[in-house]
Amino acid sequence: MKKTLLALTALSLAAPATAQRYDLEPGAHDPIAWDFVEGISTEVGPRLAGTPDEARGRAWAMEWLRANGFANVVEEPFMHDTWVRGEETARIVSPYPQPIVLTALGRSGSTGEGGLIAEVVRFDDMAELEAAPAGSLAGKIAFIDHAMRATMDGSHYGYFGQARRRGPAIAASKGAAGVVIRSIGSDTDRLPHTGGTGWDEGQEPIPAAALSNPDADNLTRMLERGQPVTLEMTLTPRFVGMTPSGNVTGEIVGRDPSLPPVLLACHLDSWDLGTGALDDGVGCAVAAAAARRVAEAGRPLRTIRVLFAGSEETGLYGSTAYSEAHADEPIAAGIESDTGMGLIWEMSSNFTDTNPDLYQRMLRAVDGYGVGPSTDVAAGGADLNVVRDQGGAIIELQQDISDYFGIHHTANDTLDKVDPAILAQNVAVWAALVNVLANEAGPIKPAE
Ligand SMILES: [Zn+2]
Repeated sequence: MKKTLLALTALSLAAPATAQRYDLEPGAHDPIAWDFVEGISTEVGPRLAGTPDEARGRAWAMEWLRANGFANVVEEPFMHDTWVRGEETARIVSPYPQPIVLTALGRSGSTGEGGLIAEVVRFDDMAELEAAPAGSLAGKIAFIDHAMRATMDGSHYGYFGQARRRGPAIAASKGAAGVVIRSIGSDTDRLPHTGGTGWDEGQEPIPAAALSNPDADNLTRMLERGQPVTLEMTLTPRFVGMTPSGNVTGEIVGRDPSLPPVLLACHLDSWDLGTGALDDGVGCAVAAAAARRVAEAGRPLRTIRVLFAGSEETGLYGSTAYSEAHADEPIAAGIESDTGMGLIWEMSSNFTDTNPDLYQRMLRAVDGYGVGPSTDVAAGGADLNVVRDQGGAIIELQQDISDYFGIHHTANDTLDKVDPAILAQNVAVWAALVNVLANEAGPIKPAE
């Protein structure tokens, strides 16, 4: 991270004069983006999907958009199957009694007030869990110890994340009474990482939690000593039924509103442990600030629409609802910001080869900020279902997220982790790119 930062800082010194107000030097600041992320972190805080907290987030964001010159600010509600956290405590009963730090995964079942005491059976990884014979986990707590490593592009998250997304359902299918996983996170803080898990059709949710990485290390050492290890955990989350969630959109209306808009997406909900500053407060801050920066430079040709999606963390429900509601409204291009805090260093699209002239112009607009081309074909993130479903143009701006999965989905996701200079670089890159897209008269992704 340090090396990259230095290299990019050096690049910024050579950037054209227009880049100077987005200088990467310490002290660089984008007051609009900062106002959003500081405001929502302070005045709303955690925004768990389907809860009154998420609803307060929507109301706050709508007021912010109106106050910042956005038109057509609307809320599009949908119903959401909502889960809320309860008590969560755990301890090793034997042979080495001591407390253990964990947190329930989203959609975990409950142990009931009385808790669950059971022997722990450890699995190195998902393959080992899948190979366990049917019924072999009856009455046991399965421990999935798959350790995630940090990478600059976060590519390990998809692979290691399966232990959280699918591990509990597989363990339950083999009779497990409960599941603990090693946190899907690259840090050594004694803070567990939550995140959603899923159950098979008709499957009864069992208690499922993530241990902090140091606690997973400790449990592994205990098991290596060869005696049976008994864990007690009390998790009392609840499913509260169908409650309202929703998407929020706002627009910078273009000079020709008959042209399909450019969509800038992020999500407004967050997990409940931190304040959702990085995931995804900064994403919405960058999208909204970039739209406003473009508007300040002159009214764009195309409309720029921001989509603050609801209930992303619990299963992309807002993104899905938005796509269903807007299937017949073509979107010119979509971009998403949802990888926390990190300098943007690479750009990919799904029209690099079919519209090379436009891609080159986009590249020239951002290369002064240290952003280079990528040969990857952009597939887009969670909140771009509407563009994916339409087969539309997608651009990805890759951030350096070497450090992000140390904080992701923990109580540490708070405003102090937002670096104003990096936030300012993100907005500058987005604004430069969106300025090109929103002023492009021709099709962005020509029909192939
Ligand atoms: Zn997110």
